[in-house]
Amino acid sequence: MPKKSVKKEAAPRPASPQVQAAKTRCPACGSTDRESYSGTVVQEFGGITPDGKPHTHIVRRRTVCRACGQCRVDRFYENRATQ
Ligand SMILES: [Zn+2]
Repeated sequence: MPKKSVKKEAAPRPASPQVQAAKTRCPACGSTDRESYSGTVVQEFGGITPDGKPHTHIVRRRTVCRACGQCRVDRFYENRATQ
């Protein structure tokens, strides 16, 4: 008899594989208000985030603080493992 297609289980996954979702802060003035990111650099580098979660990539995004104009590069940990 014909096989019925297996119902796919909808995993509760966030849209982004980002592990660390904390808001980034300006190191100079402490503001979280920033320009949109540019110059994203993705590095394939597996390990454990500072808060103990596994990651497969490190993503760096360049931004500018809106409050004081300080340039900074925010680092994000992403888990892009296909399981
Ligand atoms: Zn600032």
